[in-house]
Parts: sequence; structure tokens; C-alpha cells
Amino acid sequence: AKNDQRGQYCYYTTEMEQDTRQRLTLLHDLRAAIDARKLKLFYQPQISLHDGRPVGAEALIRWPVDTGAFIPPDQFIGLAEYSGMIIELGDWVMRVACEQAQQWTELGFPWMRIAVNVSVVQFRNPDFVASVDRVLKETRIEPARLELEITESVAMQGAANVEPILQQLKALGVTLAIDDFGTGFSSLSYLQRLPVDRLKIDRAFVRDMGTQSERSSIADMIVRLGHELGLTVIAEGVESPQHVNALKQIGCEEAQGFYYSRPLPANDFLAWLAPFKM
Ligand code: C2E
Ligand code: CA
Ligand code: CA
Ligand code: CA
Repeated sequence: AKNDQRGQYCYYTTEMEQDTRQRLTLLHDLRAAIDARKLKLFYQPQISLHDGRPVGAEALIRWPVDTGAFIPPDQFIGLAEYSGMIIELGDWVMRVACEQAQQWTELGFPWMRIAVNVSVVQFRNPDFVASVDRVLKETRIEPARLELEITESVAMQGAANVEPILQQLKALGVTLAIDDFGTGFSSLSYLQRLPVDRLKIDRAFVRDMGTQSERSSIADMIVRLGHELGLTVIAEGVESPQHVNALKQIGCEEAQGFYYSRPLPANDFLAWLAPFKM
């Protein structure tokens, strides 16, 4: 039995070591990729369900590797958070995204918002509000066109800390969206206090909309809750005309998903955008 236990112990140690080594390698590669400016932003349109026109885009980070494939953000954002690298990375994302929005303005799309994901580590960094202010000033973007997406889980952890930070961000003039909404347990009274502009329905609640198995009630609830609070509502993960129709029926204002477009590199996104010039 002792041997067995030892054997198991050794087995786990080896696995843990391998895991640690893999993560260190990935971290090292990420550092190198950042330094070599290999990371890219892709853009996915956000559509007004009222007239089918784009109102903005979400910036999504991509890490291209030599094979032509991408390492998905889910596989390195956590590591970037753990190592603190996300502070620098998030700052870069915000700056590049705002510069991109400024180019859209020059090309005739001045109304386009740019939505950027904010990590919990960035949000908790005491320098975060100042870093947003810096990017706004340096890129001279109209602040309201920068939308910060903060997940519901981040927004809901402790009113005392979160509320003043959101107030300071609001004072800069940016817009605020609560991402992945519906997955947490926000209380109405708490939500009411937060100075947010938009709720983003998590795609888990969009998936089955417009099908036989009506699970659309949660999306319906979120839209009504949002409207009750004076917020607009956007749905993510919109993949079909059935989704679009069901979302229109419940009065959801905006939608984002593969049905309209996958996230695209900057140039391809511009080509996608071109027909919407006014
Ligand atoms: P998220 O913020 O919820 O972003 C939406 C994800 O859903 C994106 O995955 C997007 O490509 C995907 N998506 C869009 N439309 C559809 C659809 O119709 N169907 C389905 N099944 N998926 C759709 P992506 O780009 O792989 O990003 C995954 C997550 O990584 C993001 O989830 C976000 O949490 C994080 N992330 C991405 N870029 C950044 C970034 O610049 N900073 C931070 N902190 N996190 C990021
Ligand atoms: Ca997001
Ligand atoms: Ca989301
Ligand atoms: Ca999500």
C-alpha cells in the first residue's frame, strides 16, 4: 500500500511538474509574442436589431502561431492574469482598439463604438482608471465610443469596491456594459446602483431561443430587467435568423454573433463595414 501511495505521489508530481513546465513555456512564448508585436485584435460587429446596421464592434485578442492557426484567448488570458502580464496586455488592447475606432471615424464610420474586455486583474489594479484616461487622451477618441465590458462576476464581487471604480470610469465619459449577464446572481437593488449602460446577455441564454424547447424566458427576463433599469440590452452568440427574430420579439436592442459575422482582422472588418457607409 505504501508503494502504491508513493507511486501515486510520484505520478502526480510528474504531472504537476509537466503542467508547470508547460505553463512556463506558454508564458515565455506569450512574452516573446508580445515583444515581437505578434498579437492581433480581431473585430466582431454589434448590430442594431432596429435597422440591421452596425453600431459598434467588440475587440477580441488573437495570438497567431507559425502554423497559421491561433491560440485561443481562453488558453492564455488566465495565464496573463496569473502572471500580471494582463495589465500591459489589456492596456495595449485598449490603445489599439481606440486607434482602430479613430480610423473608422476617418473612413466615414464615426458612430461606431469599440467594446473592449476588461479582466478582473486590470479592474482591481489601482492604476486602471488612470490608464483608461491616458488612452482616451492619447488617442483622442470621443470617450462615449469606448465601451468597457466587465463580466457580471467582476461587477458583483463586493459593492464597496466596484461601485466607486465604475463611477470614476463613468466620469471619464466611457460607456459600461456588463458582460456574460445572467450567469451570476445580481440583485436588482445592487444592479440599480451601478452606473452601467448596457447588459450583455450571455450566449448560453441565446442558444435555444426560437426553437421548440423554449428556454428563451431567461433572455426575456434579462431584457425586461434591463429596460426596467433604463439600460439597453445586447445579446451575444447570435447564430441564426431564429435567434434574431426571437430577440426582436422580446425587445432586445442589439445583437452580436456568427450570424452577422465572425470576429475579423482589421482589414476584413473594414471590407465588411464598407456597405454601411452613410
Ligand atoms: P467573451 O468576452 O464572452 O467574447 C465572446 C466570445 O464568443 C469570443 O470568443 C467570440 O469569438 C465568441 N463568439 C462570438 N460570436 C459567437 C457565436 O455566434 N457563437 C459562438 N459559439 N461564439 C461566438 P473568443 O474571441 O475566443 O474569446 C473568448 C474570451 O476570451 C472572451 O469571451 C473574453 O472573455 C476573453 N477575451 C478575448 N479577448 C480579450 C481581451 O482583449 N482581453 C481580455 N481580458 N479578455 C479577452
Ligand atoms: Ca466580451
Ligand atoms: Ca461575453
Ligand atoms: Ca462569454
